[in-house]
Amino acid sequence: MQYKDYYAILGVPRNATQEEIKRAYRRLALKYHPDRNQGNKEAEEKFKEISEAYEVLSDPHKRAIYDSQGYVGLRSSGYRGFEDITDIFKTFSDLFEEFFGFPFGEREERKPQPGADLSYELEIDFEDLFKEKKVKLEIEKYEPCEFCSGLGYDLERGVKLCESCRGKGKVSYSEGFFRVTYTCPDCRGRGTLYVAKCKNCNGSGRVWKKKELDIIIPPGVEDGTILRIQGEGESGLFGGRPGDLYIRIKVRPHKYFYREKNHVLAQLKISFISAILGDEIEIPYFGKILKVKIPPGTQPGDEIVLKEEGLLDPKTQKKGDLIFKIQVELPKKLSKEGEELLRKLAQVEGLENFNQTLEKNSSLKSSKKKKESFWEKILFR
Ligand SMILES: [Zn+2]
Ligand SMILES: [Zn+2]
Repeated sequence: MQYKDYYAILGVPRNATQEEIKRAYRRLALKYHPDRNQGNKEAEEKFKEISEAYEVLSDPHKRAIYDSQGYVGLRSSGYRGFEDITDIFKTFSDLFEEFFGFPFGEREERKPQPGADLSYELEIDFEDLFKEKKVKLEIEKYEPCEFCSGLGYDLERGVKLCESCRGKGKVSYSEGFFRVTYTCPDCRGRGTLYVAKCKNCNGSGRVWKKKELDIIIPPGVEDGTILRIQGEGESGLFGGRPGDLYIRIKVRPHKYFYREKNHVLAQLKISFISAILGDEIEIPYFGKILKVKIPPGTQPGDEIVLKEEGLLDPKTQKKGDLIFKIQVELPKKLSKEGEELLRKLAQVEGLENFNQTLEKNSSLKSSKKKKESFWEKILFR
């Protein structure tokens, strides 16, 4: 395999900076450019060679392989160079535009550029989910300059002819045998210049300022939802369209209520008396008072469902439910009187405590059948 010394090809030292490499390539590309060497096979080969050298040395990854493993290592890493001249132009079209300004399209710096998108995080409370919420946001961003309508120049003083190119937009110079034409750097190809920049925006067409926005957050919005507000990002440059504003909603968790899909859930603690006898409890619930009926005989872990008291699904407009998960609270201590009443209740209802039951049915210790039916009452899986 033929060895190629890319540094020698570009005529730069091995420790050349990217800027030096680029400068060397620009000079050589100008010399060997096919447009200026019509039909010259040698120049074409040279152009390919310098382009390959530039491609390798301008790419830190490829350069590192080349530096450490040489040309052979670079080839075995899969690098193949350029197929043909068109391949080179395709790869370096931006670069050539920068070098020569033509013939690969003019570099027009004042062409419209879209504004940047903005993102913002907005925290809301759980209770804000129950109705539409209006929020005033104050954001700092680029907005179109009012003085020049975003054009960047002093409208009153207008434009004048560019003196450098006499209005043609292109200028020529000679380098050796070659006459090179390129885009006029003063007017960037327009042929005209603004008489004066807009003082308010210093020519950029936009200014940095605070803007107040009224944002409406739909009810039932989920934590992490991203609202897109079209056109409220930064204003574009030179007539480019504005970006969008993305608002990420963060819902602060509530101390007692939480959501599962569009259902709202909470643990409801009731006394064992309420559980046995049934009850009605009033619970303040985001702007109203709910009456929650506890049916007699409610068990721990039961769920009491209040239909359509949950959150609105912004997509289907359907409401979820409010679900209370029941916890039954048992007293840790009773008064003497209470205890007596309970013992009495146990007798009446045949709910004597465990050891007494065992003593009463002493045959439980031996009879297998009895034991099993006893277990059935008190054990479960
Ligand atoms: Zn000009
Ligand atoms: Zn302006």
